[in-house]
Amino acid sequence: MHLKNSKIIVIKIGSSLLVDENKKIRKKWLSSFAKDLKKLNSKKKKIIIVSSGAIALGCKKMNYNKTNLRLDESQAIASVGQIELMNLFSQTFSKFKLNISQVLLTLEDTEERRRSINAKRTFENLFRLNYIPVVNENDTIATSEIKYGDNDRLASRVAQITNADTLILLSDVDGLFTKNPKIFEDAKLIKRVNNLNKDIQNINIKGMTKLGSGGMNTKIEAAKICSLAGCDMIIANGLYHNPINQIEKNNNCTFFKSKISKLHARKKWIISSISPKGELIIDEGAKRALLSGKSLLAAGIKKVYGKFSKGAHIKILDFKKKEFARGLSSFSSEEINKIMGCHSNEIQKILGYISKSEVVHKDDMVEI
Ligand code: GLU
Repeated sequence: MHLKNSKIIVIKIGSSLLVDENKKIRKKWLSSFAKDLKKLNSKKKKIIIVSSGAIALGCKKMNYNKTNLRLDESQAIASVGQIELMNLFSQTFSKFKLNISQVLLTLEDTEERRRSINAKRTFENLFRLNYIPVVNENDTIATSEIKYGDNDRLASRVAQITNADTLILLSDVDGLFTKNPKIFEDAKLIKRVNNLNKDIQNINIKGMTKLGSGGMNTKIEAAKICSLAGCDMIIANGLYHNPINQIEKNNNCTFFKSKISKLHARKKWIISSISPKGELIIDEGAKRALLSGKSLLAAGIKKVYGKFSKGAHIKILDFKKKEFARGLSSFSSEEINKIMGCHSNEIQKILGYISKSEVVHKDDMVEI
């Protein structure tokens, strides 16, 4: 039910779902999860998995029992365990004829706009090739100052940069409760959160830090990121077999409705850029078209200022040089210099290759 209209779904799984308390790998569970994904895949849904487990599987492989690992120890262990993790996915998923790929991210890959656009493009290409990206933090390289530290927030950033519709955090609790269910018998599962600040203000989130691998705290942080990114979020118990099917069937989880639409979130992100890289001066007709919600075409561009590459954030000015919109350019300044004033169907001939026809697409533009 929750996933019916979701086209892009990010699913985060914690280490405790892959390895049980006796350090045994939960192979049957992973197969049941793969079966769920096969079903989503057949419905043409685009899936990204964010999986923890590099450190847990590294410790298992190296017979390492110590808890409270030092950072340098955990970096080395993760480099051993990440291979184990991917082998596990690869062996299990190939039985279901599901293709997987590995994506290791560091904090700047999602926080810096240019790098996040690069990462987004990689995800899109993997979707196009029908591969399921399996993401983890690049634990071997990340040091404490440049670390997400927990995969809940990493997953929400991945959901944000890929414009995902829903993020599912599979944990070892059913969801968000009114009180800590391990202490209070009358604790109730909250099924739906529409307004993050209002609906959870009386809940002692910090008192629930022991629930779930990253605790409830990081899950609420993830929900805040998702809410501003136009992405819905679900916390559900992943310990059951066929965990995605369980969410659909039983709805025994917490569903966080995002505050704003995806399009609105994207536009906010565009306008929040600190340093636009160039300017386009456009004619009266193009301005009228833009104000009525159309895209900017090459024909309406009079002049280009600045040197910028494709995807750059630019200002759009009218013929009186008054800025009235901002957007992401689908062409570099060099290309725009060649095609401005021309009809869209001439672009391919002028540039010598196939490209988009809009210089700034309406979804990538916001009036100011
Ligand atoms: N990236 C870590 C790992 O793969 C886990 C972080 C987390 O559990 O949130 O072991």
